[in-house]
Amino acid sequence: MSASLAGLKVFVRTFGCQMNENDSEHIAGVLAGAGAAKAGGPEDADIVVVNTCAVRQKSEEKLYSYLGRLSRLKKKRPFLLGVAGCVSQVRGNGLLDRAPFIDFVAGPDNYLELPEIIGRAAESPVVRTDFGREWKEIGAAGTVRETPWSAFVPVMEGCDNYCAYCVVPFSRGREKYRPLPLILAEVRAAAAAGALEVQLLGQNVNSYRDPESGLGLAGLLEAVSEAQGVEWIRFITSHPKSFGDDIIRAMAANPRVCPSLHLPLQSGSTRVLERMNRGYTRENYLALARRLRESLPSLLLMTDVIVGFPGETEEDFELTCSLLREVRFAGIFSFRYSPRPLTAAGPDDVPLEVKRRRLVALQTLQRAIQTGIFRSFVGQDLRVLGSGPSPKGGNRHSGRTAGNLVVNFDAPADPAGRFVTVRITGSGPYSLHGEAIG
Ligand code: SAH
Ligand code: SF4
Repeated sequence: MSASLAGLKVFVRTFGCQMNENDSEHIAGVLAGAGAAKAGGPEDADIVVVNTCAVRQKSEEKLYSYLGRLSRLKKKRPFLLGVAGCVSQVRGNGLLDRAPFIDFVAGPDNYLELPEIIGRAAESPVVRTDFGREWKEIGAAGTVRETPWSAFVPVMEGCDNYCAYCVVPFSRGREKYRPLPLILAEVRAAAAAGALEVQLLGQNVNSYRDPESGLGLAGLLEAVSEAQGVEWIRFITSHPKSFGDDIIRAMAANPRVCPSLHLPLQSGSTRVLERMNRGYTRENYLALARRLRESLPSLLLMTDVIVGFPGETEEDFELTCSLLREVRFAGIFSFRYSPRPLTAAGPDDVPLEVKRRRLVALQTLQRAIQTGIFRSFVGQDLRVLGSGPSPKGGNRHSGRTAGNLVVNFDAPADPAGRFVTVRITGSGPYSLHGEAIG
């Protein structure tokens, strides 16, 4: 039986990717289901849950500095402090050694048990980081959405790929797939609650298989396309090694699937890709990009790149740059390699200065490529899904296009959660700007 949290206020702070954002919506939903209310910040909370990211060393360092702040706050005004997400899974009890003021630690597969964990943590610290073999359904009823117009819908969890740099298979466990009827039920519930866009989530969505029927990602995209009310469908993250032509066909045949794809590259050098255990070569990646563009002419590609992976030479790095020039991504997330616990990569032998220099060179190159891509949209009228006021204030608002480009625009009223047609009047390297015309 789960403990009641009636009368208590909860604050959830999220670090990391969309998966973690969605998990935080689950944490908030499960705790609301046990009677807890939402706090405005850690200052007025009875329970603070920090949902963490372990993917890079920097993400973990950010966590420890945030925990330091919470510990000072806790001395002034006590509350229960919990750590959830990937760092809790990877560090487990080690977190309590490092930060003994933590009251509970819960791994990504233990959120349904949070009310009970919190009930026990009031007595003494609790660490729960078990992985079940089965999918644990939380669903729309256990989700408090931050942006109801754009709903995250998880379709799988975990990763079996074991890329040599990546902690995810250890922080998220083996792959588990969500049964198709549960996915469709959540999509319909989200649409009924006003979602115009759904983002199908998983660390490795290409390997999706409905446990009952064996239906893959292509079939899933088709099934979700038929849900009433949902206008835009996205899916993240794809793996280049298992991106079948059936998925390309499903994207081309279903106009609700957005012409935008996150396809992490990591490196443009086959030698490095091999040592990363990525399962594809430079040529495979280029051929896939070509096939995608042939079938989906308006497709915008986004990617992730790591610089300074162990053993990366100047020549390897140049191959990454030349691939960027050839493919012309509309956006990249680029990172300096950092060693992660439990992973297979060799010694971290590329000096920090070299990593820094390569990262700056890569980002400078990408900025020039992107500036050109963004400029080509000036003069067009684009359909934009509004997301709220722009940080710049005034009548300025932000949103995204179907191709996932950020647009800042003037509009008389808050367009959050509505489609707006925006006339694009200018562009920068990272966003478009314009005026709402309808
Ligand atoms: N499942 C996705 C995302 C994994 S993590 C995928 O397959 O790509 C997100 C990104 O973080 C990765 O794509 C990679 O570029 C980066 N990353 C992962 N581990 C890293 C490490 N040890 N050092 C630097 N960047 C890393
Ligand atoms: Fe990490 Fe590779 Fe799995 Fe992506 S595919 S989550 S990079 S192990």
